[in-house]
Amino acid sequence: QDSEPWRDFNRFQVYTADLESALHYLLRVELASHSMLEGEKLKVFKDLVTLVSKLYPGGGSVVKLMETLSDWLLSLPLQRIPYQAVLDLVNNKMRIAGVFLGEELRWVGCQGSRPGLRGYPCSLWTLFHVLTVQHDAMPNALDNTGLEVEAAPVLQVMRSYIRTFFGCQECSRHFEQAVAAGIHEVKSAEQQIVWLWNQHNRVNARLAGSLSDDPLFPKAQWPSPSLCASCHEERNGVHEWNLDNVLHFLRHHYSASNLSPKYSL
Ligand code: FAD
Repeated sequence: QDSEPWRDFNRFQVYTADLESALHYLLRVELASHSMLEGEKLKVFKDLVTLVSKLYPGGGSVVKLMETLSDWLLSLPLQRIPYQAVLDLVNNKMRIAGVFLGEELRWVGCQGSRPGLRGYPCSLWTLFHVLTVQHDAMPNALDNTGLEVEAAPVLQVMRSYIRTFFGCQECSRHFEQAVAAGIHEVKSAEQQIVWLWNQHNRVNARLAGSLSDDPLFPKAQWPSPSLCASCHEERNGVHEWNLDNVLHFLRHHYSASNLSPKYSL
């Protein structure tokens, strides 16, 4: 890992290589510590696969993989599915069909200045920000999935996924508290985008200067003025966000048209 070449990237863009690496890690590493998917675990996994299959931008091989996985999971009458069967589908059956997810991690916007920093947690935030923006852009995409009844389906699936599978226990405890306290205020796709942005900034504030802070990418309130000057305002010497401009910025930054395929397969 130390010898991996640095990948130049543009902070104004989002990289599909990071999103693909997030799913690669999720399916092949994070899930691997759960040898049997059953009960709540199976439901949470199914919901995540459905969400990604419906909202992941671009309609490329990731969507095909997730659609196939989703159809397969929904068609099985089983109450328990061994993780090995999921892995087998992802690794082998899908390759025969010419659809597969990259077999290595290629962090770009989520590169760390040394191994152990950034990477997967960064890409998971990125993935869910993209999904909140896609849900707002395609309001009917979740129709007939069962997820459409939720006011904040992306946050609900993220919440369940983090609680059930995310390896960092401290993170899931904090996130669960935040969602439990605030999700009832989220009543639209637009508010869902803003809620996740605001929550991410709260986490940034809490973690600034901590051990997980990469010196090359110090935790800060985001977007910085250099990314979005009009997002920032000052009233009587006090910083304020211009929420309309923040929403506008997020809708653009995490949109399908701002995804760069550079370094992707
Ligand atoms: P990240 O915070 O991962 O951000 C990734 C990228 O998202 C940034 O590079 C930037 O481009 C963009 N971004 C930054 N802020 C925002 C924003 N407000 N809105 C939209 N986009 C933004 N670590 C802990 O140590 N303790 C915790 O309690 C904890 N809780 C977590 C909860 C969740 C749900 C997740 C997914 C992760 C959590 N983490 C926690 C990990 C931590 O938040 C970082 O992901 C990790 O330290 C890597 O940081 P990073 O520098 O790559 O930036």
